[in-house]
Amino acid sequence: MNLIDIGVNLTGKSFNKDRDDVVDAAISSGVSKIMITGTTESNSEQAIVLSSKRPKELFATVGVHPHHASEINKSTYGKLVDLAGHEQVVAIGECGLDFNRNFSPPEQQLDAYEMQLELAAECQLPVFLHQRDAHDKFVKILSKYRDSLSGGVVHCFTGSRGELRAYLDLEMHIGITGWICDERRGKDLQEIVTEIPMDRLLIETDAPYLLPRNIKPKPKSNRNEPKYLPHVCETVALCMGKTVDEVASATTETANRLFNLEYDKNNLTE
Ligand SMILES: [Zn+2]
Repeated sequence: MNLIDIGVNLTGKSFNKDRDDVVDAAISSGVSKIMITGTTESNSEQAIVLSSKRPKELFATVGVHPHHASEINKSTYGKLVDLAGHEQVVAIGECGLDFNRNFSPPEQQLDAYEMQLELAAECQLPVFLHQRDAHDKFVKILSKYRDSLSGGVVHCFTGSRGELRAYLDLEMHIGITGWICDERRGKDLQEIVTEIPMDRLLIETDAPYLLPRNIKPKPKSNRNEPKYLPHVCETVALCMGKTVDEVASATTETANRLFNLEYDKNNLTE
């Protein structure tokens, strides 16, 4: 199997002791490339540092998660522009709206979201989007910028059929995590995942969060890892009535295309 995990929070503390082993284990289990999610200015920088050490396997996104919108200041935009110019950076985000927990006030989230859509348009990089309990506002703003964006993914999609259709109408890609492996809260997703065209589907673990609930035997630690991505792929295939190979090759091709991961930067300097 050859899979791409488009969302791993590899800068997180829970990986401090064994980060390299976690990447090695993922590669051994068939995950050939990993995108490290940037969620703050400093952690986007860290994502770049990590990905630069293994440039063919690791890539970075640069952005500010809605939870951290209140940390944005006057210098943030310029800083993100600089970071986005780094060759390992393949998307702007994680950005969007999260009115579920409102760790940052909604007004600041809206500003941060628009600022990063502008940034993505300016850099012509795809957006890596997060949305919870904010669908209407999220789509309204996204529609406004859509024509100037090169593309994007609504990551960790867990919404309704109507929300899914709205994203597909905007020609967005859809990221599916181990949420789909949950026999209770993933039930709706298991049904509507069949509506996602194969060339718009992406898979991700969102590790260390969202450990798939149906892994057997159950891992001792509750920490999710990119090595469990094949498990997400198998569950998606089962729900869609496709083979695992079909889902694996389609999602890998789509990730390579959307995020331009096959472009061999090293060849340029040779
Ligand atoms: Zn997210």
